[in-house]
Amino acid sequence: MNSIDKLTEFFQKFPGIGPRQAKRFAYYLLTRNKSYLIEFAKLVSELKNDVIECESCHRFFEKNRIDTATCDICRNPARDKSLLIIVSRDVDLENIERSHSYNGLYFILGGSVPILEKTPEQRIRQKDLQKTIEERGSKATLKEIILALNATPEGEHTGDYVETLLKEPAIKYGIRISHLGRGISTGTELEYSDSDTIKNALKNRS
Ligand SMILES: [Zn+2]
Repeated sequence: MNSIDKLTEFFQKFPGIGPRQAKRFAYYLLTRNKSYLIEFAKLVSELKNDVIECESCHRFFEKNRIDTATCDICRNPARDKSLLIIVSRDVDLENIERSHSYNGLYFILGGSVPILEKTPEQRIRQKDLQKTIEERGSKATLKEIILALNATPEGEHTGDYVETLLKEPAIKYGIRISHLGRGISTGTELEYSDSDTIKNALKNRS
């Protein structure tokens, strides 16, 4: 296997990238000069040094020389600790933040659960989620969990799976579980929903 094929194989594993696009990426890099490639390789190799996973919401954030294990959202005292939105990925959180219509906290699952998945616990941060709900629930700070997942079959399946997981602690600690309201049309990924849509979906949650 030559370098182009190897690189194509890497790109092909990126979310939403097919074999043809992956090959185009590899050829694109070939058209760039050496210093661009060195800069690119450096960014990739150092990514994990500068970015860490928040131990509370599990989003990735840049340390920026601050010695902290939690991100700026989780550290912000003005955030409403009675609300927790559960999303699949970091991009979903970023999109909700961009809508400026939510002031609570988040939990990032780190993926979704495909229908017929035999080991769903390996697809999402299940143990971390259960621990978070148990901790917040026992402190009586958490009042509502909002499931904000993609309006796709896989997103809905993930929502059902997570809801089943959290049913028991929710009853035990009197936490309400709600879903984003209509407005996010079927088949849409949260990542591509505009701010108004997100705002309405949050307002009309049920
Ligand atoms: Zn955080």
